[in-house]
Amino acid sequence: MTTLQTEPANGPSARPGEESADRTDWVAAIPFLAVHVAPLAAFFVTVTWQDWLLCGVLYLVRMFCITAGYHRYFAHRSYKMNRVFQFVMAFGGTTAVQKGPLWWASHHRVHHRFTDLDGDVHSPRDGFWWSHVGWILSTRYKATDLDNIADFAKYPELRWLERHQWIGPWSLGVTCFLLGGWGGLLVGFFLSTVLLWHGTFLVNSMAHLVGRRRYATPDTSRNSLFVALVTGGEGWHNNHHYLPASVRQGFRWWEIDPTFYVLRTLAALHVVRDLKRPPARLLDQARMRDGAFDIGMFRSYWERAAKLTGERMADMAARPHLAPEGAEAPAPEPAAAVNGVGDDTDVSATSRQRPIPRARAAADQLAAATRRTRRQDMVSTEGQPGPDDSTA
Ligand SMILES: [Zn+2]
Ligand SMILES: [Zn+2]
Repeated sequence: MTTLQTEPANGPSARPGEESADRTDWVAAIPFLAVHVAPLAAFFVTVTWQDWLLCGVLYLVRMFCITAGYHRYFAHRSYKMNRVFQFVMAFGGTTAVQKGPLWWASHHRVHHRFTDLDGDVHSPRDGFWWSHVGWILSTRYKATDLDNIADFAKYPELRWLERHQWIGPWSLGVTCFLLGGWGGLLVGFFLSTVLLWHGTFLVNSMAHLVGRRRYATPDTSRNSLFVALVTGGEGWHNNHHYLPASVRQGFRWWEIDPTFYVLRTLAALHVVRDLKRPPARLLDQARMRDGAFDIGMFRSYWERAAKLTGERMADMAARPHLAPEGAEAPAPEPAAAVNGVGDDTDVSATSRQRPIPRARAAADQLAAATRRTRRQDMVSTEGQPGPDDSTA
């Protein structure tokens, strides 16, 4: 990101008629694809065990900079640190090649504000590909809404880093080459970067599609051990959507959360402070049986069913001879449904807006009220034992 012009924060379904902004920008995607292909060249060079070690270390360290830095600090402010460590964490995040901290955190805040609603930047309701990587490769979300991240955009050193975010990846790539030659570059840097990307992306795609739900959040978020293992604790995504301001995402002792363990260690060393922990009573509110009735996907399925029904009715209207004998063909639906036939773009644009507007409005209101209450209830409880510390 070299420009920081502001852009309204809207999801793919929020601006019908601008669908071209949602298509993959394949020219801009060339570097992204090239990084994926680069590790294959390792078959033609000597790769040592040190290169594999470098790959593992760079994966873990950079994943921590993303989960503890970009996510839990810049996006959610779930703990505090001084300006020097803040910059170090931000710089470490840029080496993960996931754009700058302001871009990352600003878009993530939008994800939480509109999770699975119109306006969500990467809801799986718009497809697995879109939530995993499509939204990043589209042109819609290239800009950074600085107003949405004004609390960190006020620091000139972070704005500078955002403009020069290439320095981190390039300096790390050169260092890997100097340390391990081509093996160090191809396996140590490029392979770990590809793994790191898709590990992070799984939180946006898989952790909203596969897994169990503990809390009745108005979205599709899930708890996934696999994603937690791959991301150092970010897989407890249903927990996280329930209490986004909590520095800890694994609420039970067995919900492995290495990012939190490292942060707790850093707090003991006075590198970070004021870790926000949810009070115990919040952990049992809005709780449901794991794998119980799923509000988020129910709405999604409901809308899909409504879309299919609308299409079928429009189809019947267009071919009245197929209507059952004696039955009156449904009157051609004005606007959306009819336009939807034979025009994929219109189907996607209209189907997200037409069905069940009242139910959606009610769900949105409920979601907003729940988030407000939870934000007010969240307190900084650093130093006090968490609910599971005795068993952790
Ligand atoms: Zn999410
Ligand atoms: Zn989050």
